[in-house]
Amino acid sequence: MLAFFFPNLDPVYWIVLGVGLVLSLIASARVKSTFARYSQVPSSSGFTGAQVARAILQAHGIHDVAVEPVPGQLSDHYDPSSKTLRLSEPVFHSHSVAALGVAAHEVGHAIQHATRYAALQFRSAWVPVANIGSSLGLWVTVIGLGLGTAGGSLLMAWIGVAMFAATTLFTLVTLPVEFDASRRALATLQQSRVLVGDEVDGARAVLNAAALTYVAAAAASLLQLLYWLMQILAVQGRREE
Ligand SMILES: [Zn+2]
Repeated sequence: MLAFFFPNLDPVYWIVLGVGLVLSLIASARVKSTFARYSQVPSSSGFTGAQVARAILQAHGIHDVAVEPVPGQLSDHYDPSSKTLRLSEPVFHSHSVAALGVAAHEVGHAIQHATRYAALQFRSAWVPVANIGSSLGLWVTVIGLGLGTAGGSLLMAWIGVAMFAATTLFTLVTLPVEFDASRRALATLQQSRVLVGDEVDGARAVLNAAALTYVAAAAASLLQLLYWLMQILAVQGRREE
């Protein structure tokens, strides 16, 4: 019963957190090593990440998205609010297979934004809900479970778990958004012959490794959600006995 007030006392909770953490660490180590490996492989086209990003945007008739360098490693992202595509300095200036893959992937998000891709629109609209869920969901669930275990209503625990589910949903909706951006990137790089032959496989390896980090995050969130759901169901089950 104490475990409901202090989830850190429940070994199962530590296992759930540990599995999530290990998955995330493996995924992030993999993306770093794959990126490092293919940063050493120059593309035969010789274009830089920034040039390729601008060319793909132009080809899609997108003229209002700025392409800027941003400090850091793997800090590349598309900012829909300012319509800015920020490429990390190593990607912006480099003509490696890894750089072109990442640059084209980020352009994929700009294209999703311009074409009102449904999963991206939902994901953007869901950000505030997911933020509330990630900051409060755990505490509302834990306190609600405490009340429920003490004989009170489980309503608060259910509200908490619903808030938690909102963040899990966010991590799940991120998956099609990321997969779609990578699919677009690889198709464009191949069709435009910016990358040829083995170069495409290198870019694919980098983008697949990056996608795995999102899969790990979704799996970790889903595991935690299931844990809390089972805690509530256990309290409910004991009452009905
Ligand atoms: Zn992405």
